[in-house]
Amino acid sequence: MFTDANFDKDVTMTEFGTINLEELAVEEQRLSETNGKRDDIFISIPKPKQGGTTLFPLRLLPPVLGEKLFQYTRLHMIKGHSVHCPKDLVKGKKGEPVWDRNTYCPICEYYNSLWRRVDRLEDQGKKAEAEKIKKEARSLKPIERYYYNAIARSEKDSAGNVHPNVGPKIYSCGKTVHKMIVRGIQGDKETKEPGLGDVTNPKTGYDFLVKMEIRGEEEYPNYDRTSFARETSPAGKPEEVKRWAGSLHDLKALRKPATVEELETELARHRGLIDDEEAGFDVEAFDAKHRTGGTPTRTTHTDAGNGIEVEDTDADDAVTPSAPAEDVSIDDEQFMAELQSMADDE
Ligand SMILES: [Zn+2]
Repeated sequence: MFTDANFDKDVTMTEFGTINLEELAVEEQRLSETNGKRDDIFISIPKPKQGGTTLFPLRLLPPVLGEKLFQYTRLHMIKGHSVHCPKDLVKGKKGEPVWDRNTYCPICEYYNSLWRRVDRLEDQGKKAEAEKIKKEARSLKPIERYYYNAIARSEKDSAGNVHPNVGPKIYSCGKTVHKMIVRGIQGDKETKEPGLGDVTNPKTGYDFLVKMEIRGEEEYPNYDRTSFARETSPAGKPEEVKRWAGSLHDLKALRKPATVEELETELARHRGLIDDEEAGFDVEAFDAKHRTGGTPTRTTHTDAGNGIEVEDTDADDAVTPSAPAEDVSIDDEQFMAELQSMADDE
């Protein structure tokens, strides 16, 4: 009979492997990441009703040691989902930051060629045609996005429960709000308004009050009334701050410059040369390869999947390129608003 006393004698533990705790920790993280939706990582500000305003206070967090406060990227929007432009910010002639002209982006090239066509058409007096091309060009314009580590001061979960100080999460904003943040810190040279200095200081920083408004009949939100709080406040309790400092997101990882091949695939999708349904997976080629006795058929879009599978900020999108809903839900209210305002600018 088995007893505790002769356990060691009876059971040869050496026949078992040992649990790798480190590996399990990684697995736990993977599971919670795949279960958690993308908006669990990104701050998602509830859209107000028409004519209403959402006040969403957050606290921008200091950068990871040795890293920058924010990460930038440029996105091209293709049929409802985004692809990162490979052009990086580099120093211009006078030391000013410019988007690198030496990096080739087929979508940017195509975009520029569309504007050249607009000029030609306008010279020829073909206004209606020019308008059509303008509209296409605007839809492809690279849009700047900025990412910060932040704490949501108050956030409702999917069950409707409100939680204080949620994060660190990624606050993703467009150029307009990014400018507000930078000016808030540095001050405004034009109006001679002094800067607040390090708004992220855990003891003496300032909350950032995002105000998302939908004015009148406007479709997209407006952020004009967004500002830093007037009074300084601690970021949180010391134990909270300590925990946040240890769990900041790697912002660098959010910029995923696409390869030329991926960008060309996206452009082909935009041009209607690749059917969205088949783009992720070439059914014909697959069937042909495995059909007994069949000879593989050559198709024009064998590599079509590559562009989509690697292109985006979330692996889930890769599996379902035809369902970009999640992509739009992260932060793209702002994105779309900017697309709209760009279109108004031109
Ligand atoms: Zn580009």
